[in-house]
Amino acid sequence: MNFLEERIVKDGVVKEGGVLKVDSFLNHQMDIQLFETMGEEFKRRFAGKAINKILTIEASGIGIACIAARHFDVPVVFAKKTKSINIDGEVYAAEVESFTHQTVNRVIVSKKFLSAEDRVLIIDDFLANGCALQGLIQIVEGAGARVEGIGIAIEKGFQPGGQRIRERGYQLESLAIVEDMDCRTGKIRFRPQKV
Ligand code: 5GP
Repeated sequence: MNFLEERIVKDGVVKEGGVLKVDSFLNHQMDIQLFETMGEEFKRRFAGKAINKILTIEASGIGIACIAARHFDVPVVFAKKTKSINIDGEVYAAEVESFTHQTVNRVIVSKKFLSAEDRVLIIDDFLANGCALQGLIQIVEGAGARVEGIGIAIEKGFQPGGQRIRERGYQLESLAIVEDMDCRTGKIRFRPQKV
């Protein structure tokens, strides 16, 4: 097991409905030393890529993206969730369905902070059905920019997001991939990784 898998086994809580709670180190309280190690690992996995910007989505992705950004020495932009239906020409927008809240959010990024020259690393905490990622990819590509890679902390491999994104040809690197988990026993099984 790698460092993140070990931490998930130690402190993660398997809930009903395929939800993994990692509030004590990732989603509410944040273990910054762990985030440092995650940032180092993202840098290793995306070595050689000409990344000049990191894009994430509020709220849980921001902390991870900021610490990762120190390893890439690039700025972080986060997509903002908004209920506003005003079509504002100054933003790139996408509709994102929330897995955890079962709502649809419009997410936006100002055109000031994303342009056709950008080579973007997308970072998020979880990958489940892939709606958040698809929204972020749509925003990057809508700006004429390029998705150089996608870095995820925890992918739930039993949901379809990862496969969908990989089939589209993106380099998707998830530090831990949960193959299955059982809320009765609390047991979590990870997909073996080559790296
Ligand atoms: P997706 O759009 O891929 O279906 O879901 C991704 C988003 O849903 C993530 O940004 C994360 O905030 C949230 N999410 C999905 N599944 C889980 C989960 O099992 N646990 C937690 N804590 N968040 C999740």
